[in-house]
Amino acid sequence: MEYVACNLCGSNRTKLIFPSTIPDRSHPQDMEAYRCTSSGYGRHHAIVRCCDCGLIYSNPRWDDSELIDSYEAVQDPLYLQERGGRVLTFERHLRPLEKLAGPADGRQLLDVGCYIGVFLEIAAQHGWDAWGIEPSQWAAGQARRNGLNVIHGTLATANLPNESFDVVTMWDVIEHLSDPMAEIRRVHRILKVGGLVVIHTMDIDSLFSRIMGRKWPWLMEMHIYYFSQRTMAEMLRKAGLQVLWSGPHGRFQTLGYLGTRFTALFGRLGRPVEWLLNATSLRQMTVPINLGDLFTVYARKQLPESSRLSGR
Ligand SMILES: [Zn+2]
Repeated sequence: MEYVACNLCGSNRTKLIFPSTIPDRSHPQDMEAYRCTSSGYGRHHAIVRCCDCGLIYSNPRWDDSELIDSYEAVQDPLYLQERGGRVLTFERHLRPLEKLAGPADGRQLLDVGCYIGVFLEIAAQHGWDAWGIEPSQWAAGQARRNGLNVIHGTLATANLPNESFDVVTMWDVIEHLSDPMAEIRRVHRILKVGGLVVIHTMDIDSLFSRIMGRKWPWLMEMHIYYFSQRTMAEMLRKAGLQVLWSGPHGRFQTLGYLGTRFTALFGRLGRPVEWLLNATSLRQMTVPINLGDLFTVYARKQLPESSRLSGR
């Protein structure tokens, strides 16, 4: 375990907001906790708020090498079943993206943490030259089997050339990283000037999160950072990105998948619901969900300060 300073402002002054719920002797090699569809609700390290900038994060936490090992080992067959909901969600995400970035026209898009590549598939269908990067060997393999361009690894290890992408997306990824500030600076480096970064994550400042308190389902071991729209925007600005728009964004999910989440949250109470869904054709039905506690932010890489001042 390691203690870290605030990733946004460097301060060490924190206030505990949710104490740890993890027994002392457990270890991150318990891979289940790192699946995209992990049901580890209610299990998390101590969560603190920075007294100086308000960033909320897990502290202390597993150190970096332990985390990366866990993500490399992730296998998640449940995610494959949930594909239908993800396809609709990503179709919906692509519209505002193209409004701000302009039409695809074969331009370069990189999806960081692309998992099995569902977003890459849709982006490619819309005419993007779509690339993905993914630490899980299993997920990267699944994506490649579908003929997608996926690099196995992380942005830190991939050594991508400067200014090589028009769009970089991160769907439900930033909250898992041990150093999101460094990652956003890497994104800035590989973006072309005028290029767009799109980040989707949970909003700890949302009304739903405030109502749920320590029962908010996103408080989980695999989540290290709990951004608000304000702290996310602040981090992007620090990395030299101009925020264009930020707001809540829902997703589509199958009733079958929601049933498994319900059981994970409420235990035995959820079993009759799951049974009913499995016994009928309702299981595959997709419904839109928007509790206002997930948001997307769009930000643009600006010209360097010096060339803006000289009027280039
Ligand atoms: Zn801070």
